[in-house]
Amino acid sequence: MDFGFSKEEERLRQEVREFCKKEVTPQLIEEDEREAGFGPYVWDFFRKLGARGWLTPDWPEEYGGLGSPYMDKFIIMDEVTRAVGGWRILLTVGASMVGPAILEYGNEEQRRRLLPPIARGEVEYTLGYTESQAGSDLASLELRAAGPAGEVFAEERDDYYLMNGRKIFNTAAHYAQFHWLGARTDWENPKKHQGISVFVVDLRSPGITICPMRTMSDLMTNEVIYEDVKVPKENLIGQKNRGFYQIMTALDYERVTPSGGLYHLFEEMLTYVKETEFNGKPLARDPIVRHRLAQLAIEISSARLLDWRVAWMINSGTVPNYQSAMSKAYSAELIQRIYNTWVDMMGLFGQLQPSSKWAPVNGRIERQHRRSVIESIYRGTNEIMRVIIAARGLGLPRE
Ligand SMILES: Cc1cc2nc3c(=O)[nH]c(=O)nc-3n(C[C@H](O)[C@H](O)[C@H](O)COP(=O)(O)OP(=O)(O)OC[C@H]3O[C@@H](n4cnc5c(N)ncnc54)[C@H](O)[C@@H]3O)c2cc1C
Repeated sequence: MDFGFSKEEERLRQEVREFCKKEVTPQLIEEDEREAGFGPYVWDFFRKLGARGWLTPDWPEEYGGLGSPYMDKFIIMDEVTRAVGGWRILLTVGASMVGPAILEYGNEEQRRRLLPPIARGEVEYTLGYTESQAGSDLASLELRAAGPAGEVFAEERDDYYLMNGRKIFNTAAHYAQFHWLGARTDWENPKKHQGISVFVVDLRSPGITICPMRTMSDLMTNEVIYEDVKVPKENLIGQKNRGFYQIMTALDYERVTPSGGLYHLFEEMLTYVKETEFNGKPLARDPIVRHRLAQLAIEISSARLLDWRVAWMINSGTVPNYQSAMSKAYSAELIQRIYNTWVDMMGLFGQLQPSSKWAPVNGRIERQHRRSVIESIYRGTNEIMRVIIAARGLGLPRE
């Protein structure tokens, strides 16, 4: 069995590595890790990736891509996350999740209007799925989009949908320009998942209020409130009332997890144990530390294989399904194990926050350790990943 990359792919990897050496600065990494979202360094980096066609190399040229195979995109994401360490940069909502869904379900006008700005790195999207009563059970979402006259709302609305309701945990809403919004367009149908449609909404539309929600890790997410928001009908993506299936497709892409970021973390960890002494002895000589690092090395290699399988499937034209659920669940828990190990190795110092002068690695690990909790919650919880694997992967009866 040969898991190797072709010569062209290796050349591309090298080119991206060289690019990152030049463009990934400490300021960029700092900004990527901050809770506030994209700032000037990340936007600038994004546009540089966009100018090379590297945000969306697999898209057709007429929509801003390079017409390359998906594997090129995977290699670029892998190298960029390896260089940056990658939280937000990994989760480019427009280029990696929404764009593929627009390519698949949008009409020609929508593709030409919405895709090139994503490809150039000029705009970002935020995912508008979750509501207080609809998280894992996404089919219960209620945000209403009243379409043809005569339904819930009285005012005339020939060319727009009138939106009312609220979304929670919409992570990039405070710096993104567009909402990828799941809204209920049929509330009579008892099959809840058949009454949802997907819209692209300009977040500056009148009637939208964005309220910050702070999490235990300082990461900022948001509540987004819709009060009589008019959304042009041409922003309905795909077929009305078929949005649930489109969201499921976008989620399958969202769960692609390039393991480059894991290598970044692991390499930093190896440097830390080589450079840090405990009781007069380098940590790297401690048998327990060595054992735990060796275990993590095995697990990172396994994560890489799961991750390559998903990339290979997309590259061969198949939408991954339980395979991306496996990759997502495994890497989410692995990231948590990496940070747990790291904090354990730091002993009591591991609890010190960035404001303390005694905090090792500038307190970054303490913060990222808290942040790693969300890995098994967002992009679908790890329990839901196991529900998907059991039903679709193992063919077990649905609950
Ligand atoms: C920091 C953060 C950022 C987020 N960003 C976004 C975003 O940008 N956009 C967005 O739309 N959403 C976002 N989310 C929301 C996230 O996707 C949901 O929190 C997640 O899907 C879980 O939904 P819930 O919180 O309603 O929990 P619930 O669905 O109420 O689940 C509660 C618990 O029950 C378990 N559970 C539920 N159903 C089952 C089942 N059938 N079988 C087994 N166990 C089950 C869950 O695994 C979980 O442990 C974010 C969440 C967080 C914390």
